[in-house]
Amino acid sequence: MTSNPYPLGLRLHGRRVVVVGGGAVATRRVPALLDAGADVLLVAPELTPALRARADAGRLHWVPRRFVPEDLDGAWLVQVAVDDPMAAASVSAVAAERRIFCVRADDRTAATAWTPAVTRHGPVTVAVLGGGDPHRAMTVRDAVRDLLAVRLAPAAAAPSGGLGAAAAPPGQAGAAAAPPGGLGAGVTEAGVSGGRQVGRVALVGAGPGDPELITVKGWRLLTEADVVVADRLVPGLLLDELRPDVELVDASKIPYGPSRAQEEINQILVDRALAGAFVVRLKGGDPYVFGRGGEELLACAAAGVPVTVVPGVTSSIAAPAAAGIPVTHRGVAHEFTVVSGHLAPDAPASLVRWDALAGLHGTLVILMGLKNLAAITATLIAHGRSPQTPAAVVQEATTGTQRVLRSTLDAVAADALTAEVRPPAVVVVGDVVNTLDG
Ligand code: SAH
Repeated sequence: MTSNPYPLGLRLHGRRVVVVGGGAVATRRVPALLDAGADVLLVAPELTPALRARADAGRLHWVPRRFVPEDLDGAWLVQVAVDDPMAAASVSAVAAERRIFCVRADDRTAATAWTPAVTRHGPVTVAVLGGGDPHRAMTVRDAVRDLLAVRLAPAAAAPSGGLGAAAAPPGQAGAAAAPPGGLGAGVTEAGVSGGRQVGRVALVGAGPGDPELITVKGWRLLTEADVVVADRLVPGLLLDELRPDVELVDASKIPYGPSRAQEEINQILVDRALAGAFVVRLKGGDPYVFGRGGEELLACAAAGVPVTVVPGVTSSIAAPAAAGIPVTHRGVAHEFTVVSGHLAPDAPASLVRWDALAGLHGTLVILMGLKNLAAITATLIAHGRSPQTPAAVVQEATTGTQRVLRSTLDAVAADALTAEVRPPAVVVVGDVVNTLDG
Protein backbone atom coordinates (compact mmCIF):
# COMPACT_ATOMS: atom_id res chain seq x y z
CA MET A 1 0.00 0.00 0.00
CA THR A 2 1.61 3.21 -1.08
CA SER A 3 -0.55 6.17 -0.11
CA ASN A 4 1.15 9.52 0.26
CA PRO A 5 2.40 10.47 3.69
CA TYR A 6 0.67 13.34 5.45
CA PRO A 7 3.16 16.05 6.50
CA LEU A 8 2.94 17.62 9.94
CA GLY A 9 5.11 19.83 12.12
CA LEU A 10 5.15 18.23 15.53
CA ARG A 11 5.30 20.63 18.44
CA LEU A 12 7.20 18.51 20.89
CA HIS A 13 8.04 21.04 23.57
CA GLY A 14 7.79 19.33 26.94
CA ARG A 15 6.30 16.19 25.36
CA ARG A 16 7.73 12.76 25.94
CA VAL A 17 9.54 11.19 22.99
CA VAL A 18 11.06 7.75 23.47
CA VAL A 19 14.20 6.83 21.56
CA VAL A 20 15.10 3.16 21.61
CA GLY A 21 18.75 2.52 20.86
CA GLY A 22 21.92 4.38 21.78
CA GLY A 23 24.10 4.02 18.68
CA ALA A 24 24.93 6.10 15.65
CA VAL A 25 21.34 6.55 14.44
CA ALA A 26 20.12 7.70 17.84
CA THR A 27 23.09 10.05 18.06
CA ARG A 28 21.93 11.72 14.87
CA ARG A 29 18.26 11.82 15.77
CA VAL A 30 18.39 13.06 19.36
CA PRO A 31 19.75 16.61 18.81
CA ALA A 32 16.76 17.69 16.68
CA LEU A 33 14.37 16.26 19.27
CA LEU A 34 16.13 18.20 22.02
CA ASP A 35 16.14 21.28 19.83
CA ALA A 36 12.36 20.94 19.54
CA GLY A 37 12.18 20.89 23.33
CA ALA A 38 11.11 17.26 23.57
CA ASP A 39 11.31 15.41 26.85
CA VAL A 40 13.54 12.61 25.55
CA LEU A 41 13.64 9.20 27.19
CA LEU A 42 16.51 7.14 25.82
CA VAL A 43 16.26 3.39 26.29
CA ALA A 44 19.50 1.54 25.54
CA PRO A 45 21.95 -0.64 27.46
CA GLU A 46 24.81 1.48 26.13
CA LEU A 47 25.24 4.96 24.65
CA THR A 48 27.71 6.57 22.28
CA PRO A 49 29.95 9.11 24.03
CA ALA A 50 27.99 11.98 22.45
CA LEU A 51 24.69 10.71 23.84
CA ARG A 52 26.35 9.92 27.14
CA ALA A 53 27.48 13.54 27.39
CA ARG A 54 23.91 14.75 26.88
CA ALA A 55 22.64 12.31 29.47
CA ASP A 56 25.32 13.40 31.93
CA ALA A 57 24.41 17.02 31.30
CA GLY A 58 20.81 16.25 32.23
CA ARG A 59 19.47 17.08 28.77
CA LEU A 60 17.67 13.73 28.49
CA HIS A 61 16.64 10.77 30.62
CA TRP A 62 18.54 7.55 30.06
CA VAL A 63 17.41 4.13 31.20
CA PRO A 64 20.39 1.81 30.76
CA ARG A 65 18.63 -1.40 29.77
CA ARG A 66 16.61 -2.97 26.97
CA PHE A 67 13.14 -1.76 26.02
CA VAL A 68 10.07 -2.73 28.06
CA PRO A 69 6.50 -1.79 27.04
CA GLU A 70 6.08 0.54 30.02
CA ASP A 71 8.75 2.79 28.52
CA LEU A 72 6.05 4.11 26.20
CA ASP A 73 3.87 5.31 29.09
CA GLY A 74 3.00 8.91 28.37
CA ALA A 75 4.89 9.02 25.05
CA TRP A 76 3.69 10.99 22.03
CA LEU A 77 6.22 9.57 19.61
CA VAL A 78 8.76 6.80 19.49
CA GLN A 79 11.91 6.53 17.41
CA VAL A 80 13.37 3.07 17.02
CA ALA A 81 17.07 3.21 16.33
CA VAL A 82 18.25 -0.36 16.88
CA ASP A 83 19.78 -2.77 14.39
CA ASP A 84 18.01 -5.88 15.61
CA PRO A 85 14.79 -6.23 13.53
CA MET A 86 13.12 -8.41 16.15
CA ALA A 87 13.72 -5.87 18.89
CA ALA A 88 12.57 -3.07 16.60
CA ALA A 89 9.42 -4.95 15.65
CA SER A 90 8.49 -5.51 19.26
CA VAL A 91 8.76 -1.77 19.98
CA SER A 92 6.65 -1.08 16.88
CA ALA A 93 4.03 -3.52 18.07
CA VAL A 94 3.68 -1.89 21.48
CA ALA A 95 3.56 1.56 19.83
CA ALA A 96 0.84 0.46 17.39
CA GLU A 97 -1.20 -1.01 20.19
CA ARG A 98 -1.06 2.31 22.02
CA ARG A 99 -1.58 4.42 18.86
CA ILE A 100 1.81 6.11 19.19
CA PHE A 101 3.50 7.03 15.94
CA CYS A 102 6.68 5.06 15.45
CA VAL A 103 9.71 5.89 13.28
CA ARG A 104 11.83 2.87 12.36
CA ALA A 105 15.43 3.37 11.31
CA ASP A 106 15.76 -0.26 10.28
CA ASP A 107 12.62 -0.67 8.16
CA ARG A 108 10.72 2.27 6.83
CA THR A 109 7.92 0.08 5.42
CA ALA A 110 7.16 -1.06 8.96
CA ALA A 111 7.16 2.50 10.31
CA THR A 112 4.04 4.59 10.95
CA ALA A 113 6.01 7.84 10.54
CA TRP A 114 9.00 8.91 8.47
CA THR A 115 11.61 11.48 9.36
CA PRO A 116 12.19 13.93 6.51
CA ALA A 117 15.44 15.47 5.33
CA VAL A 118 15.48 18.89 6.92
CA THR A 119 17.07 22.27 6.37
CA ARG A 120 16.58 25.12 8.82
CA HIS A 121 17.00 28.81 8.10
CA GLY A 122 16.22 30.92 11.10
CA PRO A 123 12.49 30.46 11.67
CA VAL A 124 11.89 28.56 8.43
CA THR A 125 12.05 24.77 8.47
CA VAL A 126 11.86 22.87 5.22
CA ALA A 127 11.21 19.14 5.51
CA VAL A 128 11.47 16.90 2.45
CA LEU A 129 10.09 13.38 2.11
CA GLY A 130 11.41 11.48 -0.86
CA GLY A 131 8.62 8.97 -1.28
CA GLY A 132 10.57 6.50 0.78
CA ASP A 133 13.91 7.19 -0.90
CA PRO A 134 16.12 9.04 1.60
CA HIS A 135 18.69 9.94 -1.06
CA ARG A 136 16.09 11.64 -3.21
CA ALA A 137 14.90 13.53 -0.14
CA MET A 138 18.44 14.70 0.64
CA THR A 139 19.12 15.78 -2.94
CA VAL A 140 15.98 17.91 -3.00
CA ARG A 141 16.73 19.22 0.50
CA ASP A 142 20.25 20.26 -0.57
CA ALA A 143 18.87 22.12 -3.57
CA VAL A 144 16.34 23.95 -1.41
CA ARG A 145 19.03 24.75 1.16
CA ASP A 146 21.21 26.30 -1.53
CA LEU A 147 18.29 28.39 -2.78
CA LEU A 148 17.51 29.62 0.70
CA ALA A 149 21.13 30.43 1.39
CA VAL A 150 21.17 32.73 -1.60
CA ARG A 151 18.23 34.76 -0.41
CA LEU A 152 15.80 33.94 2.32
CA ALA A 153 14.07 37.27 2.72
CA PRO A 154 11.70 38.58 0.08
CA ALA A 155 13.32 41.33 -1.98
CA ALA A 156 13.28 44.23 0.45
CA ALA A 157 13.17 47.73 -0.94
CA ALA A 158 16.41 49.63 -0.58
CA PRO A 159 15.93 52.34 2.01
CA SER A 160 15.54 55.17 -0.45
CA GLY A 161 14.93 58.64 0.94
CA GLY A 162 15.37 57.35 4.44
CA LEU A 163 11.76 56.39 5.04
CA GLY A 164 11.50 53.17 3.09
CA ALA A 165 10.93 50.73 5.89
CA ALA A 166 12.70 47.67 4.58
CA ALA A 167 11.03 44.60 5.97
CA ALA A 168 12.99 43.03 8.76
CA PRO A 169 14.04 39.58 7.60
CA PRO A 170 11.61 36.99 8.92
CA GLY A 171 12.19 35.97 12.47
CA GLN A 172 15.19 38.11 12.96
CA ALA A 173 13.49 40.55 15.25
CA GLY A 174 13.34 37.72 17.76
CA ALA A 175 17.02 37.02 17.35
CA ALA A 176 18.09 40.58 18.03
CA ALA A 177 19.81 40.31 21.34
CA ALA A 178 19.85 43.09 23.83
CA PRO A 179 23.45 43.32 24.96
CA PRO A 180 24.03 41.90 28.41
CA GLY A 181 25.14 44.06 31.28
CA GLY A 182 22.41 46.61 31.64
CA LEU A 183 22.33 48.06 28.17
CA GLY A 184 19.03 46.40 27.46
CA ALA A 185 17.03 49.43 28.52
CA GLY A 186 18.36 51.45 25.62
CA VAL A 187 17.60 48.75 23.11
CA THR A 188 14.20 48.30 21.58
CA GLU A 189 13.56 45.13 19.65
CA ALA A 190 12.58 46.08 16.13
CA GLY A 191 11.12 49.10 17.79
CA VAL A 192 9.42 52.14 16.39
CA SER A 193 11.08 55.52 16.55
CA GLY A 194 9.14 58.67 15.69
CA GLY A 195 6.48 56.58 14.00
CA ARG A 196 8.95 54.82 11.71
CA GLN A 197 9.91 51.20 11.81
CA VAL A 198 13.46 50.98 13.16
CA GLY A 199 15.78 48.61 11.34
CA ARG A 200 18.59 46.81 13.03
CA VAL A 201 22.30 46.15 12.96
CA ALA A 202 24.22 42.90 12.97
CA LEU A 203 27.91 42.98 13.88
CA VAL A 204 29.18 40.02 11.91
CA GLY A 205 32.63 38.43 12.06
CA ALA A 206 33.74 37.63 8.51
CA GLY A 207 36.58 35.32 9.51
CA PRO A 208 40.29 35.68 8.80
CA GLY A 209 40.38 35.79 5.01
CA ASP A 210 39.11 32.64 3.34
CA PRO A 211 35.53 33.56 2.37
CA GLU A 212 34.41 30.07 3.42
CA LEU A 213 35.42 30.81 7.01
CA ILE A 214 32.45 33.06 7.72
CA THR A 215 29.86 31.35 9.95
CA VAL A 216 26.62 29.98 8.53
CA LYS A 217 24.67 32.59 10.48
CA GLY A 218 26.95 35.41 9.39
CA TRP A 219 26.53 34.40 5.78
CA ARG A 220 22.77 34.20 6.09
CA LEU A 221 22.54 37.68 7.60
CA LEU A 222 24.83 39.02 4.91
CA THR A 223 22.48 37.70 2.23
CA GLU A 224 19.59 39.46 3.98
CA ALA A 225 21.27 42.85 4.42
CA ASP A 226 20.08 46.11 2.88
CA VAL A 227 23.31 47.87 3.77
CA VAL A 228 26.74 46.32 4.31
CA VAL A 229 29.48 48.29 6.02
CA ALA A 230 32.71 46.39 5.42
CA ASP A 231 36.24 46.59 6.78
CA ARG A 232 39.47 46.51 4.88
CA LEU A 233 40.22 42.99 6.14
CA VAL A 234 36.93 41.51 5.01
CA PRO A 235 37.33 38.84 2.31
CA GLY A 236 36.46 40.53 -0.98
CA LEU A 237 34.71 37.48 -2.35
CA LEU A 238 32.01 37.78 0.29
CA LEU A 239 31.12 41.21 -1.05
CA ASP A 240 31.25 39.96 -4.59
CA GLU A 241 28.15 37.92 -3.96
CA LEU A 242 25.95 40.68 -2.58
CA ARG A 243 22.76 41.55 -4.43
CA PRO A 244 23.18 44.53 -6.74
CA ASP A 245 20.68 46.66 -4.80
CA VAL A 246 22.64 46.35 -1.53
CA GLU A 247 24.33 49.56 -0.46
CA LEU A 248 27.98 48.79 0.21
CA VAL A 249 29.90 51.19 2.46
CA ASP A 250 33.65 50.65 2.42
CA ALA A 251 34.67 51.65 5.93
CA SER A 252 38.35 51.64 5.03
CA LYS A 253 37.75 54.46 2.54
CA ILE A 254 36.37 56.83 5.13
CA PRO A 255 38.78 59.76 5.37
CA TYR A 256 39.77 61.46 8.66
CA GLY A 257 41.87 59.84 11.37
CA PRO A 258 41.01 56.54 13.03
CA SER A 259 38.88 57.95 15.85
CA ARG A 260 36.90 60.32 13.64
CA ALA A 261 36.43 57.50 11.14
CA GLN A 262 35.04 55.29 13.89
CA GLU A 263 32.52 57.96 14.86
CA GLU A 264 31.59 58.22 11.22
CA ILE A 265 31.03 54.47 10.98
CA ASN A 266 28.92 54.47 14.14
CA GLN A 267 26.83 57.26 12.64
CA ILE A 268 26.32 55.39 9.38
CA LEU A 269 25.16 52.28 11.25
CA VAL A 270 22.73 54.26 13.38
CA ASP A 271 21.40 56.45 10.56
CA ARG A 272 20.71 53.60 8.17
CA ALA A 273 19.09 51.49 10.88
CA LEU A 274 16.91 54.37 12.06
CA ALA A 275 15.81 54.75 8.45
CA GLY A 276 14.56 51.18 8.59
CA ALA A 277 17.41 49.27 6.97
CA PHE A 278 18.92 46.00 8.05
CA VAL A 279 22.60 46.88 8.34
CA VAL A 280 25.34 44.28 8.46
CA ARG A 281 28.60 45.58 9.88
CA LEU A 282 31.07 43.07 8.48
CA LYS A 283 34.40 42.90 10.29
CA GLY A 284 37.53 40.84 9.76
CA GLY A 285 37.96 37.91 12.12
CA ASP A 286 35.81 38.28 15.23
CA PRO A 287 34.05 41.60 15.88
CA TYR A 288 35.26 41.84 19.46
CA VAL A 289 38.93 40.92 18.96
CA PHE A 290 40.61 44.29 18.38
CA GLY A 291 37.68 45.08 16.13
CA ARG A 292 36.03 47.98 17.96
CA GLY A 293 32.79 46.05 17.84
CA GLY A 294 31.98 47.09 21.40
CA GLU A 295 32.03 50.77 20.48
CA GLU A 296 29.64 50.14 17.61
CA LEU A 297 27.32 48.17 19.83
CA LEU A 298 27.28 51.00 22.40
CA ALA A 299 26.56 53.59 19.73
CA CYS A 300 23.63 51.56 18.39
CA ALA A 301 22.30 50.85 21.87
CA ALA A 302 22.43 54.55 22.72
CA ALA A 303 20.33 55.28 19.64
CA GLY A 304 17.81 52.54 20.43
CA VAL A 305 18.87 50.36 17.51
CA PRO A 306 18.72 46.61 18.19
CA VAL A 307 21.99 44.80 17.61
CA THR A 308 22.85 41.17 17.00
CA VAL A 309 26.47 40.06 17.38
CA VAL A 310 27.66 37.12 15.31
CA PRO A 311 31.10 35.92 16.44
CA GLY A 312 33.68 35.13 13.81
CA VAL A 313 36.72 32.91 13.36
CA THR A 314 39.48 35.10 14.68
CA SER A 315 42.86 35.37 12.98
CA SER A 316 44.50 35.07 16.40
CA ILE A 317 43.69 31.37 16.35
CA ALA A 318 43.07 30.73 12.65
CA ALA A 319 46.30 32.28 11.34
CA PRO A 320 48.52 30.03 13.47
CA ALA A 321 46.29 27.07 12.59
CA ALA A 322 46.59 27.81 8.88
CA ALA A 323 50.37 27.71 9.31
CA GLY A 324 50.22 24.34 11.04
CA ILE A 325 50.61 25.83 14.52
CA PRO A 326 48.14 24.79 17.21
CA VAL A 327 47.83 27.54 19.81
CA THR A 328 47.71 24.87 22.52
CA HIS A 329 49.17 21.38 22.52
CA ARG A 330 49.14 18.71 25.18
CA GLY A 331 52.35 18.82 27.13
CA VAL A 332 53.59 21.91 25.28
CA ALA A 333 51.33 24.88 25.95
CA HIS A 334 48.41 25.07 28.32
CA GLU A 335 47.59 28.68 27.66
CA PHE A 336 47.61 31.18 24.86
CA THR A 337 47.54 34.92 25.20
CA VAL A 338 46.36 37.23 22.44
CA VAL A 339 47.86 40.66 22.61
CA SER A 340 47.88 43.79 20.49
CA GLY A 341 51.26 45.02 19.37
CA HIS A 342 49.77 48.20 18.01
CA LEU A 343 51.50 50.33 20.65
CA ALA A 344 55.20 50.03 21.41
CA PRO A 345 55.95 48.42 24.82
CA ASP A 346 57.18 51.74 26.23
CA ALA A 347 54.26 53.80 24.90
CA PRO A 348 52.54 55.62 27.78
CA ALA A 349 49.10 54.57 26.53
CA SER A 350 50.01 50.84 26.38
CA LEU A 351 47.86 48.64 28.61
CA VAL A 352 49.98 45.52 28.04
CA ARG A 353 52.26 44.17 30.80
CA TRP A 354 55.00 42.85 28.50
CA ASP A 355 57.18 42.07 31.52
CA ALA A 356 54.50 39.76 32.88
CA LEU A 357 53.90 38.19 29.46
CA ALA A 358 57.64 37.43 29.26
CA GLY A 359 57.26 35.25 32.34
CA LEU A 360 54.57 33.02 30.79
CA HIS A 361 55.51 29.69 29.35
CA GLY A 362 52.64 29.33 26.90
CA THR A 363 51.83 30.68 23.49
CA LEU A 364 51.81 34.39 22.74
CA VAL A 365 49.87 35.57 19.71
CA ILE A 366 50.60 39.15 18.70
CA LEU A 367 48.25 41.02 16.37
CA MET A 368 49.12 44.28 14.66
CA GLY A 369 52.68 43.69 15.86
CA LEU A 370 54.88 44.02 12.77
CA LYS A 371 55.76 47.67 13.19
CA ASN A 372 56.87 47.27 16.80
CA LEU A 373 58.19 43.73 16.51
CA ALA A 374 61.83 44.57 17.27
CA ALA A 375 60.89 46.45 20.45
CA ILE A 376 58.41 43.77 21.48
CA THR A 377 60.80 40.85 21.11
CA ALA A 378 63.60 42.78 22.83
CA THR A 379 61.28 43.55 25.75
CA LEU A 380 60.19 39.90 26.07
CA ILE A 381 63.82 38.75 26.08
CA ALA A 382 64.87 41.47 28.53
CA HIS A 383 62.22 40.21 30.95
CA GLY A 384 63.26 36.60 30.76
CA ARG A 385 61.71 34.83 27.79
CA SER A 386 64.37 32.69 26.14
CA PRO A 387 65.84 34.20 22.95
CA GLN A 388 65.67 30.73 21.41
CA THR A 389 61.90 30.45 21.83
CA PRO A 390 60.44 29.46 18.45
CA ALA A 391 58.55 32.27 16.72
CA ALA A 392 56.61 32.51 13.48
CA VAL A 393 54.96 35.18 11.41
CA VAL A 394 51.88 34.35 9.34
CA GLN A 395 50.94 36.88 6.71
CA GLU A 396 47.53 36.97 4.98
CA ALA A 397 46.56 33.72 6.60
CA THR A 398 43.94 31.47 4.98
CA THR A 399 44.17 33.36 1.68
CA GLY A 400 45.86 32.40 -1.58
CA THR A 401 48.76 34.70 -0.71
CA GLN A 402 49.49 33.30 2.75
CA ARG A 403 53.15 33.35 3.78
CA VAL A 404 54.72 31.75 6.82
CA LEU A 405 58.07 32.65 8.28
CA ARG A 406 59.61 30.54 11.04
CA SER A 407 62.34 31.87 13.26
CA THR A 408 63.26 32.40 16.90
CA LEU A 409 62.36 35.18 19.29
CA ASP A 410 65.74 36.94 18.99
CA ALA A 411 65.77 36.83 15.18
CA VAL A 412 62.16 37.06 14.09
CA ALA A 413 61.98 40.86 13.82
CA ALA A 414 65.03 41.06 11.54
CA ASP A 415 63.90 38.02 9.54
CA ALA A 416 60.47 39.54 8.97
CA LEU A 417 62.09 42.74 7.75
CA THR A 418 64.39 40.87 5.36
CA ALA A 419 61.52 38.77 4.04
CA GLU A 420 59.44 41.94 3.62
CA VAL A 421 56.53 40.54 5.57
CA ARG A 422 53.59 42.93 5.41
CA PRO A 423 50.35 43.38 7.34
CA PRO A 424 48.02 41.80 8.01
CA ALA A 425 50.21 39.36 9.88
CA VAL A 426 50.09 37.49 13.15
CA VAL A 427 53.20 36.72 15.19
CA VAL A 428 53.23 33.51 17.23
CA VAL A 429 55.76 32.94 20.00
CA GLY A 430 56.14 29.64 21.82
CA ASP A 431 57.14 26.00 21.56
CA VAL A 432 53.94 25.22 19.66
CA VAL A 433 55.51 26.85 16.60
CA ASN A 434 57.60 23.74 15.94
CA THR A 435 55.36 21.12 17.51
CA LEU A 436 53.74 19.84 14.33
CA ASP A 437 56.64 20.80 12.10
CA GLY A 438 58.32 17.83 10.47
N1 SAH B 1 39.10 41.19 14.55
C1 SAH B 1 40.26 40.65 13.87
C2 SAH B 1 41.52 41.36 14.24
C3 SAH B 1 41.54 42.81 13.87
S1 SAH B 1 43.05 43.60 14.24
C4 SAH B 1 40.33 39.16 14.16
O1 SAH B 1 39.65 38.65 15.06
O2 SAH B 1 41.06 38.47 13.44
C5 SAH B 1 43.91 43.41 12.72
C6 SAH B 1 45.04 42.42 12.86
O3 SAH B 1 44.55 41.09 12.79
C7 SAH B 1 46.07 42.48 11.78
O4 SAH B 1 47.00 43.51 12.02
C8 SAH B 1 46.72 41.14 11.91
O5 SAH B 1 47.59 41.10 13.01
C9 SAH B 1 45.53 40.27 12.23
N2 SAH B 1 44.97 39.63 11.03
C10 SAH B 1 43.73 39.76 10.55
N3 SAH B 1 43.54 38.99 9.47
C11 SAH B 1 44.71 38.33 9.27
C12 SAH B 1 45.15 37.35 8.33
N4 SAH B 1 44.36 36.89 7.36
N5 SAH B 1 46.41 36.90 8.44
C13 SAH B 1 47.23 37.31 9.42
N6 SAH B 1 46.84 38.23 10.35
C14 SAH B 1 45.61 38.73 10.27
